[in-house]
Amino acid sequence: MSINPISQPINLHSDWKAELSNCVSSIDELLNQLGLKPHDLNATQQAARKFPIKVPQPFVQQMEYGNPNDPLLKQVLPITSELQVDSNFSTDPVGESSFNPVPGIVHKYRNRVLMIISPNCAINCRYCFRRHFPYDDNRQSKQQWFKALDYLKTKPEINEVIYSGGDPLAANDNFLRWLTGELESIQHIKRLRIHTRLPVVIPARVDDQLLNWLSNTRLKPTVVLHINHANEINTGLSQGVNRLKQAGIMVLNQSVLLKGINDTSDQLINLSEKLFDAGIMPYYLHMLDPVQGASHFDVPKDSAVEIFNQIQAELPGFLVPKLVQERAGETSKSLIL
Ligand SMILES: *Cc1c(COP(=O)(O)O)cnc(C)c1O
Ligand code: SF4
Repeated sequence: MSINPISQPINLHSDWKAELSNCVSSIDELLNQLGLKPHDLNATQQAARKFPIKVPQPFVQQMEYGNPNDPLLKQVLPITSELQVDSNFSTDPVGESSFNPVPGIVHKYRNRVLMIISPNCAINCRYCFRRHFPYDDNRQSKQQWFKALDYLKTKPEINEVIYSGGDPLAANDNFLRWLTGELESIQHIKRLRIHTRLPVVIPARVDDQLLNWLSNTRLKPTVVLHINHANEINTGLSQGVNRLKQAGIMVLNQSVLLKGINDTSDQLINLSEKLFDAGIMPYYLHMLDPVQGASHFDVPKDSAVEIFNQIQAELPGFLVPKLVQERAGETSKSLIL
């Protein structure tokens, strides 16, 4: 398949913040760039008013020109199917609102917590379970961060902090360096994890400033990327991953199983192979969270199990992600199978 244009190497002098403020923010602009027409794709402003369209330019470059079924385009284009109301799909599908002990913290699993670092994402993924998250209640001042840190201090069972969001790497490095330093002073915290899609959609995010604080912490860092399709992987991303690994940081990937995007065994096998080539290990393959507006992406459990069995038959065990589901009220992710 031809990707348009050819993937560019990472430009270490390019400013990720400039790319972040320069995202495509209208349906017409996106489709124009791809030589497509809105009515051919059931694109609709009505869906974009509920959850805006937002796509960084490097991600657009990975899409195939003229292909209305491009698997990257489908992840970001607001379409009429989003307006369907399905009573099995809710606005808080994983039951997070009852595990929000102080603003900025989601403590649902016993010994690890999510810290909602930044309400912003670099990209708006149409299937995202956070599209209805009450970020305004979780927007933090430094005083509130002290309260969150105080909470962590009183819970000796917590040994891992996960920077989450939104996208935590949308926050600036000075803040992240400060917060990480504060966490380091809490003795029972051993590990730091960063769940992010930013290095995928804006590879320039993995710059010297990021590596500087991330490689100088006593907390053992792991970066968990979010890549759903092999076409998202380009040389810029691979170079960023290399730099992280040279700094001793483990790099994993989680995907969401999405109808019409990656719901065939061939696509998932290819994804695992390409992740490995780029130095990234598959971690989780998530069942879609039943979030309102995303029911058209749902892959039924029976099909998911069938696809999973096929990829397991074709891949070495270490390239098979765990097929999991996040269930409200459970104390860990639930393995399917
Ligand atoms: C997914 C998730 C975690 C991390 O789970 P792991 O299985 O350790 O990757 C932690 N807290 C919440 C609320 C989560 O949804
Ligand atoms: S939280 Fe992740 S999946 Fe959701 S919109 Fe942001 S980048 Fe996409």
